[in-house]
Amino acid sequence: MQRRTFIHHFGLSAVALGAGIPKLRPTTDFSLTILHTNDLHGRFEKTTAFSAQASEMIRKARNTQQNVLLLDAGDVLNPSLSQGHELQWMKSMGYDAFAIGNHDFDRGMEDLARQIQQSQLTTLAANYRCENTPLHGLIKPYRIFEKAGQRIGVIGLGVNPQGSIPLVLREGIVYQDPLETANQLAATLKQVEGCTLVICLSHLGYHYKDQQISDLRLAAETRHIDLIIGGHTHTFLPEPVVVNNLDKKPVLINHAGWGGLLMGRMDVQCRGGVIHTVKGENIPVGSGELN
Ligand SMILES: [Zn+2]
Repeated sequence: MQRRTFIHHFGLSAVALGAGIPKLRPTTDFSLTILHTNDLHGRFEKTTAFSAQASEMIRKARNTQQNVLLLDAGDVLNPSLSQGHELQWMKSMGYDAFAIGNHDFDRGMEDLARQIQQSQLTTLAANYRCENTPLHGLIKPYRIFEKAGQRIGVIGLGVNPQGSIPLVLREGIVYQDPLETANQLAATLKQVEGCTLVICLSHLGYHYKDQQISDLRLAAETRHIDLIIGGHTHTFLPEPVVVNNLDKKPVLINHAGWGGLLMGRMDVQCRGGVIHTVKGENIPVGSGELN
């Protein structure tokens, strides 16, 4: 698999992102490295190659970069296991958060609740209401990470369960419009919570031929989101894609295929509290083939 590096320079227009925002902390120049996966489907339990190589990449990044976030955009479970420990594995690898995917319901909500409780892994889905389910209190809408003295907001978004999760496995989950949810939450994170960056960890899918909500639409039809890290459609992007949002500000979207064949990496450089450049690449892991 060919490895490409992508560098996007944000223009002067990006400076306006930081203007007039209350509570924004005094900003210094800082960098943030984001490593990310999606749609692992438990493949790390079938082959140790991914675990070994991915953990080496993570270790190196954490040793050489001051500020690292390790994120996953959902569908981590291997449904062929009767009782798995996928979230424990993620926690042991050092994942900071993951957004719930439709296949993370494959063994039922009780099993998912058990895994979240045991692993204490930050599990995100801002557009799923779970009050009347075993997942109540376990799935959070967002989490704010403190890096380089800055606040980095990470929002989780789940795909529409109708048609993607059998009803018996999701009884009681209330799905809310991801576009509206993300737009409101991103504004709150920027304007009230003082986040310098807002990242959407999305299991909506990259793109569809019809008008259903996708990461491309999410980027174009919202404000205040800087980066979208996605999954669900098993999309192999050679490099991150740039889409202008409603304010004509650039939003970067990246997906890293599936099955642990790629590890996504984005090195974000901020100057004066706004993104100046993003260097992105999707790095092949293992042989680059499923086994
Ligand atoms: Zn999925």
